[in-house]
Amino acid sequence: MNKTVSVLGSTGSIGTQSLEVCEKHGFRVCGLSANNNTDLLEKQTRKFCPEYVCIYNEEKYAELKNRLSDTDVKILCGIDGLCEIASLEQNDIVLNSVVGMVGLLPTLTAINAGKDVALANKETLVAGGELVMSSAKKKNVNIYPVDSEHSAIFQCLQGNKREQLSKIILTASGGPFFRKTYEDLKKVTKADALKHPNWSMGNKITIDSATLMNKGLEFIEAKWLFDLEPEQIEIVVHRQSVVHSAVEYNDYSVIAQLGVPDMKIPIQYALLYPDRLECPTKRLSLTDYGSLTFEKPDYETFRCLSTAIRAIKLGGAYPCLVNSANEEAVKAFLNDEIPFIEIGEIVSAVTEKFAPAPIKSYEDIVKADISAREYVRNIIEK
Ligand code: MG
Repeated sequence: MNKTVSVLGSTGSIGTQSLEVCEKHGFRVCGLSANNNTDLLEKQTRKFCPEYVCIYNEEKYAELKNRLSDTDVKILCGIDGLCEIASLEQNDIVLNSVVGMVGLLPTLTAINAGKDVALANKETLVAGGELVMSSAKKKNVNIYPVDSEHSAIFQCLQGNKREQLSKIILTASGGPFFRKTYEDLKKVTKADALKHPNWSMGNKITIDSATLMNKGLEFIEAKWLFDLEPEQIEIVVHRQSVVHSAVEYNDYSVIAQLGVPDMKIPIQYALLYPDRLECPTKRLSLTDYGSLTFEKPDYETFRCLSTAIRAIKLGGAYPCLVNSANEEAVKAFLNDEIPFIEIGEIVSAVTEKFAPAPIKSYEDIVKADISAREYVRNIIEK
């Protein structure tokens, strides 16, 4: 395999696992970026010898430059640096695993440069789904999903006719607070919320899994990625995270994708598509699991989930507003400014307080993003 890859967000959980996959299959890495972690970014630069690295936090630029002064790597910073790496001529594919709305502009930049994107940044499609998918179509660019559920659906679509799909079944682990009541959730601590039963992930997505916002964001992503109506998406709680999602066709045949809960499998499928080569992970042993269970989610207790679905049904700026409000609320929870239960309350208030607005351009998304964040900061400061 002599593909050339840039990894945005290379020091995070998906980023480090992506580099493991690149190493295993001998990919050339031409660009790396990190938010803050200069230490790991330096190690990765020495190991993978990219031509460009970017540190998003501009205050860390001088430190990174100093650390890498004996190499000839070009050092960039900020959003311009991310976008420069996203559009490098050398890229065959850009893996975007940046956390949050920041990831949207680099995705659009890669698409406009005609580069395929392996997409792990959820917010890209939640906030800018229509714009991203129409730009990709115009530029004839492929978007390969990295998220395990969307990768599963993408895999279940291979060899079948898209127009004969009747619905998708999006599986959810249920997070650490499955079966908890509203009263129980009032007592949840930060340590409780940061413990996920099956997956080890970054802090933002771990909290999103605990509130089930993560599944709400995935619902919206699935709508855009696979061009579905919200009514065609069913969420099922599957505690073991072995069935990563499924597709039902018009003949009621349901095709699912299974595997151990390890992100390297979907990362590798996105980077190697359509090839299937040995992955640096464990094989699935169904008899080790014995039984697999499936249940309905509790939409009333987990308000983030019902709000995200309401937002995509309302359309326009609502998915973006809900996503930005959630980012601010999660940040405040991680800073001990608000209790866990308030995340859902803040996020659902946004769909009631804001008037409908269309999203026609990147600027519309930025406007919605800023207004939702201001609204949430005001609530928290009161
Ligand atoms: Mg997922």
